[in-house]
Amino acid sequence: MLMQTLFQPKVKCRYCHKTEYVKRHGKGRSGYQRYRCLECRKTFQDKYIYNVYTQSDGAEKGCL
Ligand SMILES: [Zn+2]
Repeated sequence: MLMQTLFQPKVKCRYCHKTEYVKRHGKGRSGYQRYRCLECRKTFQDKYIYNVYTQSDGAEKGCL
């Protein structure tokens, strides 16, 4: 029985772009939903705060 799939949010991981490994990881202090990807072992949040937008390392803009 895979009843957990019903509660699994369809959130795409922003690192590996997979949805089957993303699970809820509680909520942040600001109230936003946090998720954890079991594939990347990284945590990220559903909605970004504007403060994060100012931090651009440019690592995501690779030539892939
Ligand atoms: Zn991932």
